[in-house]
Amino acid sequence: MKSITKQKPFDEIKEQLADFDRVFIVGCGTCTTMLKTGGVDQVAEMREKLQELGKRVSGEVVIPTACDEMTEAVMKENSPAIENAACVLVMTCALGVHRLSLYLDRPVIPALDTLFIAMEDTPGYFHEVCAQCGQCVLGETAAICPITACHKGLVNGPCGGTNNGKCEVDKEKDCAWTLIYQRLKEQGRLDLMRRYFPPRNYQVVPRPRTLKIP
Ligand code: SF4
Ligand code: SF4
Repeated sequence: MKSITKQKPFDEIKEQLADFDRVFIVGCGTCTTMLKTGGVDQVAEMREKLQELGKRVSGEVVIPTACDEMTEAVMKENSPAIENAACVLVMTCALGVHRLSLYLDRPVIPALDTLFIAMEDTPGYFHEVCAQCGQCVLGETAAICPITACHKGLVNGPCGGTNNGKCEVDKEKDCAWTLIYQRLKEQGRLDLMRRYFPPRNYQVVPRPRTLKIP
C-alpha cells in the first residue's frame, strides 16, 4: 500500500517560499521514492531549482519512512542545518508533513499534493482500492468497492449509462457495477444485487477521525 503524491507546480512552491531565503529539504525513502516525487533524485533536482532561484539550501535529507517515529531522530541529527534554514520544504506525503511539523519550530512547507492511498497492480501502476469511508460494503459487493471504483460512487447498482461493460464517464474503464455483478454471479450470490444501502450522511462523521486501541 502506498500514499500517492504528485509534485506541486513549481510556481506554487515558489510562491509558498517567497518569504524564505534559506531552505532545508526533506524527502521520503518509501512512498515518494517509489513514486519519484520525493526520493534522492527529486530532492537533488529541487535543490538545483531553488538555488537557481537564488535560495540558499542549508541541507537536505531523505528520511527512510518520513511518517514514522524515527523521523524525530533524523531531525535531531540534522538540526544544525535545519536551524540555518528559515523553513523546511517537505517532499513527502501529508503524513510526513504532519510528522515533521511535530518536531520543528519553523514553517513546514509541502512540495507535494497527496492524492490517495493505493496498491501497486503492476510495476509503476497504482490503483486506488479504498476511499476509507468508514462503512465498508465490500462483503456485499464481491470485494470491489463501488465508492472507489464507480465514477459516481453508486452503492445501489449501476447507473443507466453502463454500456457493454464499460463506464459512461470513462469508456476506457470497466463499469464497477458490471464487475461486481459478474463476480457475484460466479459466487452464486446475485441476490446481493437487490440489497439496498440507505443514503449516507457524511456530515455526521466527526473530523478528524481518531482511534484508540483498548
Ligand atoms: S466501502 Fe469502499 S471506501 Fe468504504 S471502506 Fe470499504 S473499500 Fe473503503
Ligand atoms: S457506468 Fe458503471 S462505473 Fe460508470 S458511473 Fe455508471 S455505474 Fe458507475
